[in-house]
Amino acid sequence: MKDAKYIFVTGGVTSSLGKGIISSSLAKLLQGRGFSVTIQKLDPYINVDPGTLNPYEHGECYVTEDGAETDLDLGHYERFSNTPTSQANNVTTGRIYQNVISRERRGEFLGTTVQVIPHITDEIKRSIKLLGLTGKYDFVITEIGGTVGDIESFPFIEAIRQMRWEMGRNCVVIHLTLVPYLAAAGELKTKPTQHSVKTMLEQGVQPDIIVARTEKPLNDSIKGKIAQFCNVDQSAVIESIDASSIYDVPVLMLDEKLDLEVMRKCNAIPPHEIDISRWKKFLERLKNPKHEVTIGLVGKYVELKDAYKSIHESFIHGGVENDCAVKIKYIHSESINKESVSQIFADIDGVLVAPGFGARGIEGKIAAIQYARENKVPFLGICLGMQCAVIEFGRNVIGLKKANSTEMDPKTPYPVIDIMKDQKSINEMGGTMRLGAYPCQLDKDSKAFKLYGEGLISERHRHRFEFNNTYKQQYIAHGMKMTGIYPKDQLVEIIELDNHPWFIGVQFHPEYKSTVAKAHPLFVGFIEAALMSKTIG
Ligand code: GLN
Repeated sequence: MKDAKYIFVTGGVTSSLGKGIISSSLAKLLQGRGFSVTIQKLDPYINVDPGTLNPYEHGECYVTEDGAETDLDLGHYERFSNTPTSQANNVTTGRIYQNVISRERRGEFLGTTVQVIPHITDEIKRSIKLLGLTGKYDFVITEIGGTVGDIESFPFIEAIRQMRWEMGRNCVVIHLTLVPYLAAAGELKTKPTQHSVKTMLEQGVQPDIIVARTEKPLNDSIKGKIAQFCNVDQSAVIESIDASSIYDVPVLMLDEKLDLEVMRKCNAIPPHEIDISRWKKFLERLKNPKHEVTIGLVGKYVELKDAYKSIHESFIHGGVENDCAVKIKYIHSESINKESVSQIFADIDGVLVAPGFGARGIEGKIAAIQYARENKVPFLGICLGMQCAVIEFGRNVIGLKKANSTEMDPKTPYPVIDIMKDQKSINEMGGTMRLGAYPCQLDKDSKAFKLYGEGLISERHRHRFEFNNTYKQQYIAHGMKMTGIYPKDQLVEIIELDNHPWFIGVQFHPEYKSTVAKAHPLFVGFIEAALMSKTIG
């Protein structure tokens, strides 16, 4: 049983400063010293989870092994720490209130008035300590979404204040702020940092460490000024300079001694000296690629890169395995049609058709797949991408005119993708899909088996619709192989084409499982095939 120490990461001045990357980098460094660490995100919005949020609002929805639909920062946590997260690692204001209100309805508060303090703050503290109480972790890092001073984040800051009071040196508060550079004055400015620390002080929390995001190096005088105005040691003012890759940040934080400062503040003795040599090797390969490929990523949220965050990062991991830089060309599915397709894909070495929901852009995805199939361009279809590959094959190879998914066309004469029986009666949107990890049995005679190197795999899902097994024999007869099956219900999880160099569609989301320590085999194989096709032409 480990006695956990709690680290809080708050943000000041503005959002998007990279709290998730700082939290993940700190976790990496503490792991590198032999500690076990988990990271949690508390989101101040009222949605119970981000599953119902449009990707334009909040970026990708990340799915954990246990089927929780979570904030995309959990993807960073897993990719950096190579440790799975769970529902307990992402809690929103909506979920906190939902829990408190259901207890109130059950009469558990015995007639007392239910209030933000203590009931909501108690529930927040319970959610934080839940991870510590598992006894598995030396450190629980809790990132608070949003910016201090927001009305919504007040109960979270209050919960931190209470926990510090209860736990003393077992809690450390890191405050991430912005030190802007004003070109006109030729100076870095500390005032926004002073103000955001003041806001925290008004709420009763004195940060122990200030991490300052900046475009320019902070000299000693700036660090001294921040230290003096914000009541912290000068060694506790950590520079976080803009980096060319998020994967540089652990090394930058090591140079700035963020981990040492955290350990000093909470009296933690590391099991061993720091060892992040594998991480540094990854960086070395990332920075010195021998090859380059261009992948066309076809989706409908291409204006916002965060909508496909995990896919983007999986390409980086898979690229490094091949010593290959992966350039991603984001292609809006609505821009693709039979006329434009060959021009759009002229300089492309591989086509990935992204996951998604709804009919918009679907015909463009199908045109892209037809192009990749007929021109022998390596193809990876993920979730909706696989479903579109099934539709395309049905229409253009088998001759099932107007074949479709019943999600797009409920009246299609050939529902080759259809809703699962036990989903038919569900009307609610949130948390009602096939979610989380399921086992998949691979055909020994398949590309997938060769790539995974094992017969039984486990992958994460997030969908309602499935390949319709009524059509299975027809598809097999025309050359599509079903090479991955969910044994219990005989659901098709992977499709492959034989007379094609590399054509794979997966009903699951491999991108959720790719990490720096272990690039996903499908991405590694896909980039290898793209590289091959580029070389051979
Ligand atoms: N819309 C499809 C379904 O629900 C695919 C979902 C996805 O791509 N994640 O089955």
